[in-house]
Amino acid sequence: MQSIVIVGSGLAGYSVAREVRKRDKTARLVVVSADDGHFYSKPALSEAFRLGAPVAELSSRSAEAMAAQIKGEVWSDTRVTQLDLADHVLETSRGRLGYDRLVLALGAEPVRLPLDAASLARVLSVNDLCDYRRFRAAARGRKVVAILGAGLIGCEFANDLVHAGFAVKVIDIAGLPLNRLLPAANARCMHDALQRAGVDWHLGTGVERIEAKGEGVRILCTNGDAFDADLVLSAIGLRPRTALARAAGLAVAHGISVDAGLRTSDPQVYALGDCAQVDGLWLPYIAPIGAAAKVVAANLAGEAATVRYAPMPVVVKTPACPSVVCPPPIDVSGEWHTESDASGVQSLFRDEAGQLRGFALNGARTECAGALAQAMPMWLA
Ligand SMILES: Cc1cc2nc3c(=O)[nH]c(=O)nc-3n(C[C@H](O)[C@H](O)[C@H](O)COP(=O)(O)OP(=O)(O)OC[C@H]3O[C@@H](n4cnc5c(N)ncnc54)[C@H](O)[C@@H]3O)c2cc1C
Repeated sequence: MQSIVIVGSGLAGYSVAREVRKRDKTARLVVVSADDGHFYSKPALSEAFRLGAPVAELSSRSAEAMAAQIKGEVWSDTRVTQLDLADHVLETSRGRLGYDRLVLALGAEPVRLPLDAASLARVLSVNDLCDYRRFRAAARGRKVVAILGAGLIGCEFANDLVHAGFAVKVIDIAGLPLNRLLPAANARCMHDALQRAGVDWHLGTGVERIEAKGEGVRILCTNGDAFDADLVLSAIGLRPRTALARAAGLAVAHGISVDAGLRTSDPQVYALGDCAQVDGLWLPYIAPIGAAAKVVAANLAGEAATVRYAPMPVVVKTPACPSVVCPPPIDVSGEWHTESDASGVQSLFRDEAGQLRGFALNGARTECAGALAQAMPMWLA
């Protein structure tokens, strides 16, 4: 009996497990996860207050229920510490586990600010349901939350926490929110809308130090500003989890390098989701995972499938400023063209040949996202 081991119980890991089980009723299927193995929607974490979801209801299935669904085993709270590609063995915190085929669905990890250890000890981040439970417990009865980072996740949490009645301060080295994702006019629209909703921006400055002050903290900024908060949430970015793969000798670029068949540099090992870079593309979003999981399962069953990616617009979950963005590929040169009116801001990115390659939309302009995406060339054909 063939043994398929999947490392990671996020959307990528469980999607592959379900797809494998549809095709193969007999293989031994083991999902190994460093977390509690619950199935949940990660995007809901940054809008849970608005959704009115009690924390206990964010998980839709326990590890046991998932094991029953995939007709396999879920080794929760089990960390893989080493991959032995030659012998097809994983070292885990529960002992050794052999495999015939291995799927890495390790996700991404939060980037930490280069602060001293005492400052970092006062900072929370939310990258999974367990983190979110800790954050909600720490936030109970508190009023002021400082968010480090005005990117996608920072802005979404800012909107959600303001909506829930917290005083929210957002600190970012850039002069506008979503600086790396949105052109200036769209970013300004987000800035103004969240400010009207109550967000207190501290932009154009870094954080020097975070000191304990009473029950909360005092944040000292590099521009000399200082202010108090009850809690600090870091949202300065994510990077693919590549350490295991790199140490095992797999090819790694920004993420674990895989071809369009989701195969790593070892043909018995696949990778997908936030840990993987597919044919040079790192797309840390929900949309690519479904298609990638089907391709991995097909290839595990001996087919020769490859993934195709159409442009994938990302919805920014900030109801104060509804936004959709489809960033242009980084290697394409061109220009943004922006127009705005009372209905919102629309920025279109055209390459040197005049072809539409990206867009950013705010307000009622977001309704055009589907049509614009269809007018763009495939990202991976
Ligand atoms: C707050 C938030 C909001 C988001 N909102 C959106 C959104 O609106 N739209 C969108 O498209 N995307 C959104 N994203 C991104 C999206 O959620 C991710 O792209 C997706 O969930 C990644 O799934 P994954 O399975 O690759 O990784 P993960 O869900 O991170 O799963 C990784 C798994 O690997 C396990 N693991 C890691 N290391 C080990 C190890 N050594 N041993 C064993 N197990 C290990 C972990 O325990 C975990 O189970 C959001 C992300 C966050 C953090």
